[in-house]
Amino acid sequence: MRIGARRLDGIPTTIFTEMSALAVRTGAVNLGQGFPDRDGPPEVIASAVAALQGGANQYAPGPGIPALRQAIARHQQRHYGLDVDPDTEVVVTTGCTEGIAAALLGLVDPGDEVVVLEPYYDSYTAMIAFAGGVRRPVTLRSPDFRLDPEALRAAVGPQTRLILLNSPHNPTGTVLSRAELAAVAEVATEHDLVVVTDEVYEHLVFDDHEHVPLATLPGMWERTVTLSSAGKSYSFTGWKVGWATGPAPLVGALFAAKQWLTFTSGAPLQPAVATALDDCPDYPADLARSLQERRDRLVAGLEGVGLTPYVPQGTYFVATDISHLGWASSRDFCWALPERAGVVAVPLEVFYDDPDAPGAGRQLVRWAFCKEAGVIDEALRRLGAADLSA
Ligand code: GLN
Repeated sequence: MRIGARRLDGIPTTIFTEMSALAVRTGAVNLGQGFPDRDGPPEVIASAVAALQGGANQYAPGPGIPALRQAIARHQQRHYGLDVDPDTEVVVTTGCTEGIAAALLGLVDPGDEVVVLEPYYDSYTAMIAFAGGVRRPVTLRSPDFRLDPEALRAAVGPQTRLILLNSPHNPTGTVLSRAELAAVAEVATEHDLVVVTDEVYEHLVFDDHEHVPLATLPGMWERTVTLSSAGKSYSFTGWKVGWATGPAPLVGALFAAKQWLTFTSGAPLQPAVATALDDCPDYPADLARSLQERRDRLVAGLEGVGLTPYVPQGTYFVATDISHLGWASSRDFCWALPERAGVVAVPLEVFYDDPDAPGAGRQLVRWAFCKEAGVIDEALRRLGAADLSA
């Protein structure tokens, strides 16, 4: 008997589940899946507890409670000067992951091509496939991981419906510059494309880099769906509260799909996230400063153990090249790493159509630094004591 539907063929268990299970099984230090080991602001947790005890336990309105939609609109205004109508241009989602699913199911027809940055987050490829779309990757190549406008142009054709963007970019740490975003805007306008942009790391940028939402570029609001969430900005990855903002027709298409996925997102966490956005506006910037220190700690330590890092401009992650160690693939390396060193990391090769293309990820590994300094130090101590060669 055939069990799984054909749409699941070729779609493996997500690498994040795989690697976190490996960490639990082996007792390794988990620098794989990106989640912080310190929770977000206590007053936000108190607000969730109060909501649970105060009766916020039945269905929230489909697009989200008004207080959260209004707080999201204020956030977009405060940080980016965007005027967003909380009643028609905001939808609360169950994490950005549901936003990605609903956007693709609501906007992509079978046979439509979706241009996506590569290395790509694995839920993008799964959801493009579920929607019946065809992915057209544009590779950010090592060592710089920049967006090549010519490669972007070459990926767009008559069947292209949508560009799926991600900046700050997981797993490379690239923060797209204004010039790169302008190139995206030009291509999208010229070919009349919709852009869905995953900006969950919007506040987690380092040094003098600046996150610019694509929707703020001239003419781009009309064709852009912006996705974000409280998970990364407020260290509540397990709450799964995200949101989509954009013009009413596009957000409406996303919502039309979302209503059949979760119907409505969890009620008691919504007032708490409104509290986070309104009452803790400085938390994300403070987190970014602390993350930058931990990035520097991990980058220096990886360098110290001979794993040359590509210094990220944002996100939770740093990538390194392992080609000098002699492994056939980053996957083999990551599967051996818990036993060799008691550490878990994520192989980048699973995020490419062709991991052997020049500058692609067969030999690249991702390490998370959204961990306490002591955890990072312990991972580095273990890596330093281990033989990492094949
Ligand atoms: N975004 C997280 C990461 O890249 C994982 C989220 C997930 O497991 N779906 O590690």
